[in-house]
Amino acid sequence: MMSLRLQDLPGLGATSILELKSLGITTPKELLYHLPFRYEDFSDIRAIATLQEGQRVTIHGQVDKIVSRRIPGRRLTLIEAIVSDNSGSIKVTWFNQEFLLRTIPSGTQVALAGDVKRVGRRLTLTHPKLERGLTPEAKHTGRIVPLYPLTGSLTQNRLRTAIASLVRSDQTGYEWMPQDLMEREQLMELSNALREVHFPSGAESLALARTRLQFDELFLYELAQFLSRRELKQFCAPKIPVNKNALKKFVESLPFTLTNAQRKASWEIVQDMANGEPMNRLLEGDVGSGKTAVAAIAAVSAAVAGLQTVLLAPTELLAEQHFRTLSTLIGKNASVSLCTRSHKSTDFAQIIVGTHALLQQGIVFDHLGLVIVDEQHRFGVAQRQALQHRNPHPTIPHLLSMTATPIPRTLALTLYGDLDLSVLDEMPKGRRPIATRIVSRGEEAKAHETLRRELQAGHQAFIVCPLIDPSDALGVRSVTELAQEFIKGPLKGFTCEVLHGRLKTEEREAKMAAFLAGETQVLIATTVIEVGVDVPNATVMWVEGAERFGLAQLHQLRGRVGRSDKASFCFLHPSHFVVEKTWQRLKALVDCQNGFELAQKDLQLRGPGEVYGTSQSGYPEFKITDLFNAPLIARAREAAKGLLQRDADLIAHPLVKEQVAKFIRSIHFE
Ligand code: ADP
Ligand code: MG
Repeated sequence: MMSLRLQDLPGLGATSILELKSLGITTPKELLYHLPFRYEDFSDIRAIATLQEGQRVTIHGQVDKIVSRRIPGRRLTLIEAIVSDNSGSIKVTWFNQEFLLRTIPSGTQVALAGDVKRVGRRLTLTHPKLERGLTPEAKHTGRIVPLYPLTGSLTQNRLRTAIASLVRSDQTGYEWMPQDLMEREQLMELSNALREVHFPSGAESLALARTRLQFDELFLYELAQFLSRRELKQFCAPKIPVNKNALKKFVESLPFTLTNAQRKASWEIVQDMANGEPMNRLLEGDVGSGKTAVAAIAAVSAAVAGLQTVLLAPTELLAEQHFRTLSTLIGKNASVSLCTRSHKSTDFAQIIVGTHALLQQGIVFDHLGLVIVDEQHRFGVAQRQALQHRNPHPTIPHLLSMTATPIPRTLALTLYGDLDLSVLDEMPKGRRPIATRIVSRGEEAKAHETLRRELQAGHQAFIVCPLIDPSDALGVRSVTELAQEFIKGPLKGFTCEVLHGRLKTEEREAKMAAFLAGETQVLIATTVIEVGVDVPNATVMWVEGAERFGLAQLHQLRGRVGRSDKASFCFLHPSHFVVEKTWQRLKALVDCQNGFELAQKDLQLRGPGEVYGTSQSGYPEFKITDLFNAPLIARAREAAKGLLQRDADLIAHPLVKEQVAKFIRSIHFE
């Protein structure tokens, strides 16, 4: 189908191809699904004489005059042009674009799109988008114009040109959705939807296009869920009898008393593993609610029955921490080992803690009974299946997924279907609310004082920074710059360690260990510490560039402190003046400590259809789907169910079958 290659598209040279690759785009199809994050509406085409200040317009006219002027004292060149149509003329300016003198000399027909501003008494267009000639196939002007996520030297123009050509190439993908379903759901046809989502002809058709693409994603997701659940039903899981004595002894050996919520969840889990059906359970609990202890109880229960447990963590850092925690909690009750890219587990431990790397390392299990997946907002089901290949036994392991993402229950049910849910809705005793403050630029002094006071009292602090730009993916530059500021300034005299993605594992482990042991007072880090890191002696979390984080992510970060009975602080420090909406987001965090409530707030603060960072927010990762569109999720689920009722093995729907297979593969190998 897609015989076209990326390099065949206009605007994409070798560099662009490499840059696209860093965005995960290697084929025209992937480029087609690189969707705009925003649009600018330049569809209002007007006669120059009718322009008014503040309008966002496109004008069609002729360049009457174009000159360049140097601006003395600043390294700027101003390009000034007079552009006219039948009705009148207007001044147009650009900065530092001297090539325009050559590309649009006077006499050129142009389309210009921008905002009408008043400079002095005259109206002007400053830095408008430009298209030469008056082509009916305008991409940058005279229409709703897409804006894409970029990287490196890629520009909007270049990407738009390539995608426009792709969209017109008739290679926009074939229709695989059954006709009757499309009609019933009133879905836009696929190639049409792909064209509209990039170059919308209007707000309404854009909405329809987005709905179609979201529906696709959800429909396949739900189909995959139903199919894998059905597959699961054909298997048996090992029966893990509940050994009350052993569990009671273990619980009594813990350094704390379980909360009632922990007790209840643990009980649900061990009971669930006692019958021969594979457990499929989600443990939801706010940050700091003590999910690890529950996981430990489940693992010990399996170990007592002579079965192995694998605990999968999303990062090495977290795997290392879980390994330490479990080793301590579990003590002599079971053997624990670590298996990551840098630690190869050699023995047949009863509990193996690791990252995804574990799947690649050819471990052969003795007898796997339980898989626990922590903070990975993906299909735990897929991970269980991958592990199953290394399990010599015909039974498949039980599955426990743990998440701190407070998905509202109804949403969880539509997303995860028949997954059983255990909820930790109670914090360990003695926790105090974390004093959360927004620290405006220029008003840092008081917060710095608190920070130093906490350190002097023997407590510890985290300082977290966002990535400055995407090219700094490992966060080396971002975190180094921030660390210098703090070390030279407010943190002078305190011991600090800097943590980023480029460090060797040993180095990182050493730094983390030093922080855990209390030898280092401050850990300055990228968001590698976002999820799960547990250092109860830490009482201050400073979030630099707080406006760059989503609500759920901020809540996660804040959850790194307040893990003991000590008073804790969270400082949100925006890197510049923030707009009202961002302010509201930060304010929500100040006012509220409860993850479930914050999730609801998040829902309200996001406009419908707003396309930002579900990947950041800790929800399952969909490319297009707006997770808060519960009705659409429900529709997709019903449609998937209906189709499977009519055609259980999708024999009459080979195209759908193919799409589902692709979808499942993409989950397994991501
Ligand atoms: P999360 O649910 O965020 O993964 P953790 O399992 O890391 O939370 O637990 C948070 C902290 O609370 C840990 O330091 C842990 O030792 C402690 N903790 C867990 N359960 C209890 C409890 N019942 N009483 C007191 N402290 C607890
Ligand atoms: Mg955790």
